[in-house]
Amino acid sequence: MRNTATNAGNYAGRPMFFVSRRFDFDNLLVSKIDRSVADVQLSTRINTITKTGKTWMLEGEGPSGKIEIETDFLMGADGDHSIVLKHLGERKVDRNNYAGAVRQYWSGVEGMHTDNLLEVYFPKSLPLSYFWIFPLPDGKANVGYGMASNYIARHHINVRKAFEELIKTDPVLIPRFKNAQPLENVKGWGIPMSGNDRKAYGDGWMLLGDAASLVCPTSGEGIGSGMISGYVAAKFLQRAFVQNDFSEKMFTHYNREIHKRLRTEEKVYRFINSIPPRVFSFGINTVLSTWLFKYWL
Ligand SMILES: Cc1cc2nc3c(=O)[nH]c(=O)nc-3n(C[C@H](O)[C@H](O)[C@H](O)COP(=O)(O)OP(=O)(O)OC[C@H]3O[C@@H](n4cnc5c(N)ncnc54)[C@H](O)[C@@H]3O)c2cc1C
Repeated sequence: MRNTATNAGNYAGRPMFFVSRRFDFDNLLVSKIDRSVADVQLSTRINTITKTGKTWMLEGEGPSGKIEIETDFLMGADGDHSIVLKHLGERKVDRNNYAGAVRQYWSGVEGMHTDNLLEVYFPKSLPLSYFWIFPLPDGKANVGYGMASNYIARHHINVRKAFEELIKTDPVLIPRFKNAQPLENVKGWGIPMSGNDRKAYGDGWMLLGDAASLVCPTSGEGIGSGMISGYVAAKFLQRAFVQNDFSEKMFTHYNREIHKRLRTEEKVYRFINSIPPRVFSFGINTVLSTWLFKYWL
């Protein structure tokens, strides 16, 4: 797959993917915030949330000490371990729509494609998982591995160990990593995938992104769908402001609007889960290596 992180000038078409370090990407997003309408409090953690009548009270801690925020409406865009979700009592891990993933930045991975192609591997011995090498500038790479949680639980797999084993033992990967150096410890997270239709709205609140469990289940990508949820949520909130009504009925169609763009992916993922993992693994390795598939992609 073509990536334009480092060769944007050579590729006239619209890029299919763009790779950036998370640190740089988040920094870009923060720089876009209009400070005349938003009060940005960086390095601040909300620890408790309470609701009295229609008013939310958030208490937390930041660089200048304790803070309190009072608000009529609360948007939870605080990720998989969302404190908003916990307060609402809705954080349940649904293994059929969840994945475990690890990431490690490396330098000196050999054999990277001159066009900065993104590389995705489906290890034959580990179904429902994929290993990736995504090129970054300066000869660095984002290397990672993710696996469906239902498979992890059934086969007691340690994703971190499986990742390290693949680098050391997989015949394709050994030569790629033999002179490479990791730039950080392996980092692990959960991926809450779209498919469980987590209720993402209520009286005076909405959830976005990972907090709303919106990661695309077939790719494990959640940035695009998270951003779509932000866009859609803003429209709903704008209407609520105009009518000065933040009650649940104002957000009734929010779930439908954020999920309708992910329905096809959810169906494909359900289909994948309905076939035996080894059959799927054989099928995907067979299909992906055909000339026709490569041409289509
Ligand atoms: C290893 C790995 C690789 C991935 N690769 C890709 C990829 O290549 N492409 C892609 O599209 N997606 C990828 N994803 C998924 C993607 O990272 C997430 O879907 C996306 O980051 C979700 O965005 P979000 O804003 O909802 O949550 P997050 O990115 O988790 O952001 C939540 C924010 O809330 C803050 N926060 C949390 N709790 C509190 C609190 N109590 N008080 C104050 N602030 C708080 C956090 O500090 C954080 O800044 C990957 C995920 C993993 C685990």
